[in-house]
Amino acid sequence: MLTNTYQNVNGTGGELLLGVMGDPIAQSKSPAMHTAALRALNISGAYVPLHIAPERLGDAVQAIRTLGFRGVNVTIPHKVAVMPYLDRLDASALSVGAVNTIVNDKGVLTGYNTDGIGYVRSLKAEAAPDISGARIVVLGAGGAARGIVTALLQERPERIFIANRTPDKAEELAEACRNGGNVSGIAMDDIGEAVAAADIVINTTSVGMYPHPDGLPLDPALLKPGQIISDLIYNPLYTRLLTEAQELGCRIHGGLGMFVYQGAYALEYWTGLTAPVETMRRTVVESLG
Ligand code: NAP
Repeated sequence: MLTNTYQNVNGTGGELLLGVMGDPIAQSKSPAMHTAALRALNISGAYVPLHIAPERLGDAVQAIRTLGFRGVNVTIPHKVAVMPYLDRLDASALSVGAVNTIVNDKGVLTGYNTDGIGYVRSLKAEAAPDISGARIVVLGAGGAARGIVTALLQERPERIFIANRTPDKAEELAEACRNGGNVSGIAMDDIGEAVAAADIVINTTSVGMYPHPDGLPLDPALLKPGQIISDLIYNPLYTRLLTEAQELGCRIHGGLGMFVYQGAYALEYWTGLTAPVETMRRTVVESLG
């Protein structure tokens, strides 16, 4: 029996309405993961996929208020474009420059970013409990890298090198984050020394992701046994980078936990309840087949 009901934002009791806005959206695992979480928490409600074309984004955000949704997740390609339509931006969204979670408080929409903190919670829970003083190399300088570097800096690592195919973007991201700690951009060609000295190497590029699982974002010969190799990709669950790193004696950490924890933080913001993380994780694994 579903026992937890909510005052919706229009002030009447009822179902908790949640969703995810993206284009495309059919591939998203968020509806399955959050539906399982609502069930585990005995909450009466629904989390639905919302296919929103870019030119309808403003209307879709207004509809959150009109329809009484408690909140939505925002995914590709709307994470930056959605910002001007919101009433407030939390510090997490401002520092990253992107929103992945909207909370509706009686018609007032606040944008948050839970990607970076979700990643760090996963890294600490599953691979590296203490990141303070760590030497970190981040491969890639896209949207995910921005959130992750910002969140990693809160843990006071010794330094972070960012390497990217387009070197200017690595330099730009390092510059934007420099106030938070010791961050530098480096060219992919110069990565060998930084990787050799690293405690943690994190792939934030899309290289190795389904449907191109043979891709490698760096030459595994550069890796050393004992290093933590982390990959944001969770489809496949074990990328070629992770498989080869494990064979070399590295400790590996995949992107599933990041996905689960970014959703867990969002659910906690919407409900005030502790998210059923293990149910959420199991559901995503099952839906990946
Ligand atoms: P994005 O903003 O488009 O950035 C893509 C990054 O990958 C850029 O640094 C890009 O380099 C690099 N890249 C793309 N193709 C490349 C290639 N052939 N060779 C070398 N570098 C290449 O994407 P994003 O949002 O940051 O997402 C990146 C990855 O993180 C994706 O695989 C995504 O699935 C994953 N992710 C996972 C989670 C999770 O919950 N686990 C959350 C968010 C993202 P250039 O700048 O040179 O183009």
